[in-house]
Amino acid sequence: MDAESVDILIAGGGPVGAALALALEGSGHSVVLAEARSADATETRSANAGAARSAPAGDARALALSYASRLVLERLHAWSGMRTTPIETIHVSQQAGFGRTLISAADCDVPVLGYVANYDDLQQSLLAVPCSARRLFGARVVSFDGAKARLQTQEGERAFAPQLTVFADGARIADERAAPAYSKDYRQTALVAWVRTEQPHRGRAWERFTPEGPLALLPHGAGYALVWTMDPERSAQLAALDTPSFLAALHAAFGDRLGAFLEAGERSAFPLALRYRREETQTHSLAVGNAAQTLHPVAGQGFNLGLRDAWELARLAHAARDPGSERFIGAYRRARALDRRAGIRFTDSLVGLFSNSDPLLKLGRGAGLLALDLLPFARRFIARRMIFGARALP
Ligand SMILES: Cc1cc2nc3c(=O)[nH]c(=O)nc-3n(C[C@H](O)[C@H](O)[C@H](O)COP(=O)(O)OP(=O)(O)OC[C@H]3O[C@@H](n4cnc5c(N)ncnc54)[C@H](O)[C@@H]3O)c2cc1C
Repeated sequence: MDAESVDILIAGGGPVGAALALALEGSGHSVVLAEARSADATETRSANAGAARSAPAGDARALALSYASRLVLERLHAWSGMRTTPIETIHVSQQAGFGRTLISAADCDVPVLGYVANYDDLQQSLLAVPCSARRLFGARVVSFDGAKARLQTQEGERAFAPQLTVFADGARIADERAAPAYSKDYRQTALVAWVRTEQPHRGRAWERFTPEGPLALLPHGAGYALVWTMDPERSAQLAALDTPSFLAALHAAFGDRLGAFLEAGERSAFPLALRYRREETQTHSLAVGNAAQTLHPVAGQGFNLGLRDAWELARLAHAARDPGSERFIGAYRRARALDRRAGIRFTDSLVGLFSNSDPLLKLGRGAGLLALDLLPFARRFIARRMIFGARALP
């Protein structure tokens, strides 16, 4: 089969791949974005997301977007149509232990710490911005041999011969030449649902560390997006409970700070693992977003880091004639190495440090939270790292 020439093929139109296609606008490169799901599927999911202000249906995953991600999404013209809820403060504490800290936007010289948006809404907003990239829906990249990518589409098979293939497929594809990714199963599942509490959220997010895993409540519309992490067996039990029993279990784990838990939307479960590609430099392909590194959702870093991948790749591509060259790919890897490593280490150490009941560690964690509460510069350092990454965007 003849392969069509193209400068850049993006395999995967999730939020990171979709953002990359927009960021490449004006680079002078011809771009094809191949998304496995059909256009109908992405639109239907987004229509479901429209109900997110009261109780989202479908994929209930909500994402915390940092303030820096908002700045990028604005430049991509994808921000204004999105439904978002601002996060003004974050309360961090541990269950049955001393120490807590409150991080506020004022600590870090930003108007707000971030925003909560529905995954589907974010993806659809990015895919709705007009751009010159050719977007193919229902087009699954089924193989890539270093020169040629084969796609399965609704009309049959197609082939492309790109200068550069960017894997943005959330690591669901086998790039035939890629070294095996490092992978660590956290033996944890994130139970996700929209919930409403007696007390209004007033822009505050809660991160509560329990011995089973972190429990986060992110302000989302008139309630909260819950991300409750625990071992898979307990998660399956909680997912099967009737709503009043589920709300009572949540109340018992979170405590009384928000009064009673009154309402819960559909529950979804996400198994959690750390997975990242080793930093090998090959010609003609690289990975961004979850395909490059899949992180634990604690501290809400995954998409924000992936967006910085896309932004940096596009920035370099604007100045490059051959984005498939070893030189280009090496420059990209060097530019992203520090931020990637920092994101991986930060989330992985948080999981290790907080997801256990060792009394000595508990004492250390309490002291750490107390110190953070007393030291504004430490809060500022950590919060700005979470917002802007290990290397600030221009
Ligand atoms: C419970 C949970 C909570 C989270 N909370 C946060 C948060 O608060 N903040 C944050 O920043 N991150 C968060 N994350 C992480 C975030 O969801 C991911 O980092 C983000 O979705 C990565 O986007 P992506 O586009 O790289 O990959 P994905 O979202 O996985 O998208 C991949 C896309 O590729 C398509 N695809 C797959 N295979 C192929 C193929 N062969 N050919 C073509 N297309 C293909 C898929 O259909 C999909 O559209 C959370 C994750 C979980 C599980």
